Amino acid sequence: MASIALKSFIGLRQTAAEKPHFTIQAKPISPNPSNHRTLQVKAAKTSPKVTGRNLRVAVIGGGPAGGAAAETLAKGGVETFLIERKMDNCKPCGGAIPLCMVGEFNLPLDIIDRRVTKMKMISPSNVAVDIGQTLKPHEYIGMVRREVLDQYLRNRASENGATVINGLFLKMDKPGDGEAPYVLHYTEYDGKAGGIGVKKTMEVDAVIGADGANSRVAKNIDAGDYEYAIAFQERIKIPDDKMVYYENLAEMYVGDDVSPDFYGWVFPKCDHVAVGTGTVTHKGDIKKFQLATRNRAKDKILGGKILRVEAHPIPEHPRPRRLAGRVALVGDAAGYVTKCSGEGIYFAAKSGRMCAEAIVEGSENGKRMVNEADLRTYLEKWDKTYWPTYKVLDVLQKVFYRSNPAREAFVEMCADEYVQKMTFDSYLYKRVVPGNPWEDLKLAVNTIGSLVRANALRREMEKINV
Ligand SMILES: Cc1cc2nc3c(=O)[nH]c(=O)nc-3n(C[C@H](O)[C@H](O)[C@H](O)COP(=O)(O)OP(=O)(O)OC[C@H]3O[C@@H](n4cnc5c(N)ncnc54)[C@H](O)[C@@H]3O)c2cc1C
Repeated sequence: MASIALKSFIGLRQTAAEKPHFTIQAKPISPNPSNHRTLQVKAAKTSPKVTGRNLRVAVIGGGPAGGAAAETLAKGGVETFLIERKMDNCKPCGGAIPLCMVGEFNLPLDIIDRRVTKMKMISPSNVAVDIGQTLKPHEYIGMVRREVLDQYLRNRASENGATVINGLFLKMDKPGDGEAPYVLHYTEYDGKAGGIGVKKTMEVDAVIGADGANSRVAKNIDAGDYEYAIAFQERIKIPDDKMVYYENLAEMYVGDDVSPDFYGWVFPKCDHVAVGTGTVTHKGDIKKFQLATRNRAKDKILGGKILRVEAHPIPEHPRPRRLAGRVALVGDAAGYVTKCSGEGIYFAAKSGRMCAEAIVEGSENGKRMVNEADLRTYLEKWDKTYWPTYKVLDVLQKVFYRSNPAREAFVEMCADEYVQKMTFDSYLYKRVVPGNPWEDLKLAVNTIGSLVRANALRREMEKINV
């Protein structure tokens, strides 16, 4: 399914505000006509060398995007400052990460609380389909606590030379002329609870905005708004015998009751479960949807005690602008959460790293000044790599989350081994898996069959006014 849908969406990559740009290249380019649209003309570097110091870059926000960005910058020879307002921040989050993140970011296994190898997809009429049978013995979805993951990534950035500051970024003054510094205004805390902090300023050559969905950096560069979902989650300590059921199992509930446009979840954490849901279209009803999610899982979480209640926005699409001068946005600040699955941790870390790599490369390991064109290479690479994934998940959400009959069809489809394999491979490894043409065709026919049944069912239900 993913591969079929994907083929139609390759090419829908750039927003109008961020058209491909052209830089000057020293080497003559091939006369091949296919080069015309992506003509990259790169000069030998002409940007000035920085003298007496290395390039200075501030990363605002110490979540997965900021931690990964700061580590890469520091390793690459850039003088790096990571500003995080709350060192023990426990970001409201399900904490599910794909297997490839563990390898790509070299995460130690002891920060992964649970290895999920079984998933139940539960339809509006409570038909449960087990998915995960196609997983190989070493494959799993990792479940982390964000306070643990974020701190680990920040510490690693620090060990590699980044200066980590406990501070609240307030605003920045833009440079007066070409190479002048950005002046950041922030409040620095001394780590003691209740402290009001000290107002400070700092001069840097470039800024990475990794400060999440309510990004102040985005506001400072007039990046524009995005539509967002509100996600609500309760952390519930359930009796030990009930926890056994969730040891390596996660549940996803779909239905109008749990969310008109998303799904409800029960994810296992170290010693509790996270129960949550989200919506874009009916934000005012989020508590009602949360109650319904809890009700659907009630037998399995009976006797549970709520430890923490949390809510946070989830971006629905990238901001109209993700780059201005020597300032770039990454992670949630840029708007990199996928629809349908609501996944953003991997994309945050990956975009932070990609943006930092562009700066390291553009500055020749911190020796030269960077400019907007250097940072833009990150956006181009990002869009080229991930835009199709976002589009496919957007379409899947529109097709399958729009009504209860469509959701029944979706769950029915999930029983198919081929669908499970394609879905898990795409999720775990973040690559679009080439399909098997015969299986794709069978799947297309089955999907149409499911949707036709779903529509017929809906018409029948409308007739009897259900
Ligand atoms: C309820 C819920 C469940 C979710 N479940 C999942 C899931 O299971 N799997 C998944 O992949 N994604 C999930 N997501 C999405 C995921 O949480 C985000 O996509 C991810 O956290 C983005 O990382 P980030 O580093 O870009 O931003 P954030 O994680 O939001 O980090 C931003 C950091 O910046 C700091 N900050 C903010 N403003 C300032 C400032 N002015 N000065 C200094 N520091 C500042 C914050 O304290 C924070 O540490 C979920 C989201 C929600 C709300």
